[in-house]
Amino acid sequence: MTDCRIRKLVIVGGGTAGWMAAASFAHYFSQNDVEITVVDSSQIGTVGVGEATVPAIRDFFRSLGLDEFEVMRATQGTCKLGIEFRDWSRKGESFFHPFGVFGTPARDVAFHHFWLKLRQFGDPTPFSAYSLAVALCEQGRFTRPHPAPSSGLSVFDWAVHFDAGLFAQLLRGYALKRRVKHVDARIVDVNLRADDGFIESLTLDGGARIEGELFIDCSGFRGVLIEGALQTGYEDWTRWLPCDRAVAMPCRAAGSFTPYTRATALEAGWQWRIPLQHRIGNGYVYCSQFIGDDEAAAALAANLEGAQLGDPNFLRFTTGHRRKFWNRNCVALGLAGGFLEPLESTSIQLIETGIEKLRRLFPDKTFDPALAEEFNRSSQLEYERLRDFLVFHYKATSRDDSPLWRECRAMSVPDTLDYKMKLFRSRGFLVRYEWETFYDPSWLALYTGFGFLPEHYDPLADYFPMSELHEQLARMRGNISSIVQQTPTHAEFIARHCATAEGHAARWGANAA
Ligand SMILES: Cc1cc2nc3c(=O)[nH]c(=O)nc-3n(C[C@H](O)[C@H](O)[C@H](O)COP(=O)(O)OP(=O)(O)OC[C@H]3O[C@@H](n4cnc5c(N)ncnc54)[C@H](O)[C@@H]3O)c2cc1C
Repeated sequence: MTDCRIRKLVIVGGGTAGWMAAASFAHYFSQNDVEITVVDSSQIGTVGVGEATVPAIRDFFRSLGLDEFEVMRATQGTCKLGIEFRDWSRKGESFFHPFGVFGTPARDVAFHHFWLKLRQFGDPTPFSAYSLAVALCEQGRFTRPHPAPSSGLSVFDWAVHFDAGLFAQLLRGYALKRRVKHVDARIVDVNLRADDGFIESLTLDGGARIEGELFIDCSGFRGVLIEGALQTGYEDWTRWLPCDRAVAMPCRAAGSFTPYTRATALEAGWQWRIPLQHRIGNGYVYCSQFIGDDEAAAALAANLEGAQLGDPNFLRFTTGHRRKFWNRNCVALGLAGGFLEPLESTSIQLIETGIEKLRRLFPDKTFDPALAEEFNRSSQLEYERLRDFLVFHYKATSRDDSPLWRECRAMSVPDTLDYKMKLFRSRGFLVRYEWETFYDPSWLALYTGFGFLPEHYDPLADYFPMSELHEQLARMRGNISSIVQQTPTHAEFIARHCATAEGHAARWGANAA
C-alpha cells in the first residue's frame, strides 16, 4: 500500500496566524515524522495589532498545554470580561457585551421574556442588571468563573488582552522547541505543478527552493499563495461594513485598569482601547470615504489617556473573505483568508477554528476535494454569522450626527440578519444558525444595548405570577451584588496571579512597593 501521509507542511508567515498554526501542528505531530517549516520575512514584518480576544483563546492555550497565567505573564496580559460600547446607540449612552448570561430561565422560558414583561408593567431596571459579568466590569473587578453549574460564579466566561508581538514570540519559541524549522526570507515565486496547478515549491529571494505537500498561507492581507499564486478571488463585504482603514497608536498605561475592552463610536468609525499591563493599545477604525488618515490619527491622538508610544501604524483592509479558504493544496488562515473588522475581537478566534477544522479534515496526498469543500462551506458560514453580528452594530444605531452613521442606519442588511431581527422584533425570538460564534446572550446584549426591543414577550411568561417574578428578579440582583462585593479588583487579581515587573513599573511607578 502506498504511504499517502502528508510529510511536509509549509507555513508561510510568522505573524499570529503563522505561529499559532505552527505551534498547534508541532504539538499535534510531536510523535510523528512530519516536517513543519515556517517561512517569513523580517523585512516585511507583521500587522502588529490584534490584542483583544474572545474566551476560546483559553482553549487554545490549553490545547498546547500552556497555563493561562504563564501566557499572561509572557505577554503583559490582562483579563477581559467583555466589551463596553460607548456612544454606539446614541452619544452619551453605553452598554456592555459581556461574556456571560443574563438572569436565569424558568420552565423553558428564556429570562429576557420575564424582564420584558416587568418592563412593560413599568419596572425600569435595565437588562444589564442581571449580568454578573457586567456588574464586575462596572466595578472594575475580576475573578475566574467556577466550573460547577450550581455555583453563582458559573455564569460568565473570560478572555485575555495581550501584546500581539509577545504572543507570537511565545508561540515561536514553543514551535521551535518542537522541531519546527524557521526560514527568514522573502518568497519571490510560487511554483505550481503543470498538470493540476497544485503548489509544488516556493522560491526564496536568495534563490533557494522550499518544497511542500500541504501549504498553509498565513501571509497576511497579501495572501501570497492563496491569491498571489492561486488567484482564488475575494468576496467584498464593504457594502455592509464600510470601515476600511485603521490607525493604531499605543500609549503609556494610564486611566482605569478595566477588565474589558472599550469600543467608542466616533464620527467616521470607532476607537478601541485595550488595557495591557505595561501600556494601552488604542486604534481608530474608520471609513476612508468620510475621514482622511491624518485627521483620523489626530482624532485618536487627542483621545489618548497616556503619552503616545511609537509612531502611528496605518492599516488598510477590505472586509470580506477569499472565495475559497482551501484551494488545491493551500489553506489560508488569518488575514490571508479574510478579515472582519476588529469590533468584536474575532480574528484570532477565526484562526483558532481554522486550525481546528484543518486538523479534523486533515488531508492525505490525494487531497479528496470533499474535505476542502466542507472546510470552505463551514468557514464561509462562520464568516457570514460574524458578519451579521457586526453589521447589527452599525445598522441598529440611532445616531444621525455624521454621514457614516446616517448611511449605516439606512443600509439594507443581509437576509440572514434581516430574518433574525424580524423574529426578535416580533416576539423576542432568538434565531440561531449553524456555525454561530456568538450565542443568544451576546445577541441579547446587543439588542437590549441598542434599545432594539420586541413588540411582545413570550406569552408563556404570563403563566408566572407577577409577585413571583418581582421576587425572583430581585433575588438575582441581590446575588450579583453580594458576589461583586467579595470579588477582588482587576489590579489585585493581576498582582496576585500574573503581574509583570514592567507592567507594575509602568502602571504604578518603578518605585512603588
Ligand atoms: C486594525 C486591526 C485591529 C485588529 N484587532 C484585533 C483584535 O483586537 N483581536 C483579534 O483577534 N484580531 C485583531 N486583528 C486581526 C489580527 O491582527 C490578525 O488576525 C492576526 O494578527 C493575524 O495576522 P496574520 O498572522 O494573518 O498576518 P500578519 O501579522 O500580517 O503576518 C503576515 C506574515 O507573512 C509574512 N509574509 C508576507 N509576505 C511574505 C513574503 N512574500 N515572503 C515571506 N513572508 C511573507 C510576513 O513577514 C508576516 O510574518 C486586527 C486587525 C487589524 C487590521
